[in-house]
Amino acid sequence: MLRPAGDGVGIWRASDARGAKWIADAEEGVGSCQPSQHNVHQGDNLERRFVFQSRGDRLLTMPIEHVETLVVGGGQAGLALSHMLSQRGCQHLVLERGRIAERWRTERWDGLRFQFPNWSVQLPDFPFPHADPDAFATSAEIVDFLNAYADFIAAPIRCGVTVTALRRREGASGFVAETSNGAIEAANVVVATGPYQRPIIPALLPEDASLFQVHASRYREPDQLPPGAVLIVGSGASGAQIAEELVRAGRHVYLSVGHHRRLPRRYRGRDLIWWLSALGLDQTPVENRGPDKSLPLITGAYGGHTIDFRRFATQGITLLGRVEAAREGTLDLASDLADSLAFGDAAYAAFLDRADAHVARHGLDMPEEPGARSVPPDPPCLVEPLRRLELHAAGIGAVIWATGYGCDFSWIDVPVLDASGEPVHRGGVTNEPGLYFLGLQWLSKMNSSFLAGVGDDAARLADHIAGQKGGRGR
Ligand SMILES: Cc1cc2nc3c(=O)[nH]c(=O)nc-3n(C[C@H](O)[C@H](O)[C@H](O)COP(=O)(O)OP(=O)(O)OC[C@H]3O[C@@H](n4cnc5c(N)ncnc54)[C@H](O)[C@@H]3O)c2cc1C
Repeated sequence: MLRPAGDGVGIWRASDARGAKWIADAEEGVGSCQPSQHNVHQGDNLERRFVFQSRGDRLLTMPIEHVETLVVGGGQAGLALSHMLSQRGCQHLVLERGRIAERWRTERWDGLRFQFPNWSVQLPDFPFPHADPDAFATSAEIVDFLNAYADFIAAPIRCGVTVTALRRREGASGFVAETSNGAIEAANVVVATGPYQRPIIPALLPEDASLFQVHASRYREPDQLPPGAVLIVGSGASGAQIAEELVRAGRHVYLSVGHHRRLPRRYRGRDLIWWLSALGLDQTPVENRGPDKSLPLITGAYGGHTIDFRRFATQGITLLGRVEAAREGTLDLASDLADSLAFGDAAYAAFLDRADAHVARHGLDMPEEPGARSVPPDPPCLVEPLRRLELHAAGIGAVIWATGYGCDFSWIDVPVLDASGEPVHRGGVTNEPGLYFLGLQWLSKMNSSFLAGVGDDAARLADHIAGQKGGRGR
């Protein structure tokens, strides 16, 4: 038995003297190759798989833990899956690198409001407790809800453990996950590490001490920013909510608006979430999605209201086109502002048409709402959009990049990623038997990445895992 170099996983056999001693050391909890008393003898028919980690001239060893299904990530997706696996009698372990719901704790701003009304928020078998069904939860309330859910389902979760690598077992089925706390072998692995993992910041503005730059995932509150005007790049759910928060805090806000699909918050007496369900849109299968991956632009802030960027302008927000380039503190802005708003308006109007057709078809008693179709006049920043913005001259001291997120699956050493690093799967099931993804945007349907939508996918994957049980050797 040769002493291995570096870190890794190995099999030690008691057929030779050194293997026998190392097995005995590890099983007695010595955990190193120091001399010890043991009762494993050379020639015993005994073998053990070990993780080894070199530390100077000492070799630390740990027996490998085995689980049937390893779930990576302790957010809503990992927890929902845990519940579904427990219900099917499937042994499993959830690993979470931080705390339960870590991203809701540390990657959302303080004033964030959930985009779905309280009545619609739920995880499998666990509705969101609330005093007002039509109000919108804070991030802190979502954290409490996920914590309570973990207790309710008695999730077998280990927090503070990061999965650092995943690969197939050599010469056997299943996987080996390297973690910050030793290796774990699993017949199945479900990756539930989130749809929004890695902040994306376009390489436009160099770091400059006189300009505070922060991604939306690190923005906390208005007072975090230096005094002065604020440029927000990106008009998705984050950019839009943060823009409103800052203008209410007395800041002058410049908002770079891109392509979006805004939808009404409420229409004919019902919230959008009711409509998405009534029209079956939240269940739109990924096959019917079309090329546009964007999700509806809505907000739950300030009681929840329809986002209309013309109204933002009347509150004092200067609308800009997309930022195309930056040179020495001056931004070049695209001439696409009117087109972006027109696209958003068209999506909004098409939705109202669809809702009206639904009401007519089913003879529903829902009051008409002609006011929903009124369009405010174009504000000056839309009539004569800026094509250049000199940050210093505009008094801009901070830039918030609300430019979205990417995935990071670089730790997965199993051939399930495409050239851009995105997982290749069908409804979360990959071509590598036993490897699954959960919680991604449009995993199987429109609401796959929503808190209230992840349960369906979790149930389907749990059925798949339970169905495979016994059909694959470990
Ligand atoms: C700003 C913002 C607002 C949102 N608002 C809403 C909303 O109003 N309504 C709604 O339905 N959805 C909303 N979403 C979308 C979605 O609900 C959230 O992104 C949610 O956090 C996704 O849950 P998840 O469990 O899939 O992933 P996450 O919450 O990201 O959980 C993944 C977990 O995996 C852990 N992890 C990652 N890598 C590893 C590793 N290698 N080893 C161990 N653990 C690891 C992370 O620490 C994390 O806790 C919002 C998203 C964002 C970004």
